Amino acid sequence: MTGRTQALVAHPEQAQGGKLMRVIVDEARCEGHGLCQDSAPDVFELNDDGVAVVLVDPVPMALSRQAEAGVRVCPVAALSTAES
Ligand code: SF4
Repeated sequence: MTGRTQALVAHPEQAQGGKLMRVIVDEARCEGHGLCQDSAPDVFELNDDGVAVVLVDPVPMALSRQAEAGVRVCPVAALSTAES
């Protein structure tokens, strides 16, 4: 394999310009509606206390759209995204 071939198979997260998506839950705001879990079951889950938790941190690129959809449906704006 040549150096050129190796460059074509870079790690998927590097395709985002090296930035990794994180999702933050404001536990004080979360009211346990579960809409985030319904919209993005690979990203969110409710814990035993009925508070959303993030299952993947950082969020893999393959789940970024699902994560954003989950953030958008929260009726109390308890979820936000950040890049690191
Ligand atoms: S949709 Fe919002 S309020 Fe409902 S469980 Fe998810 S984070 Fe909590």
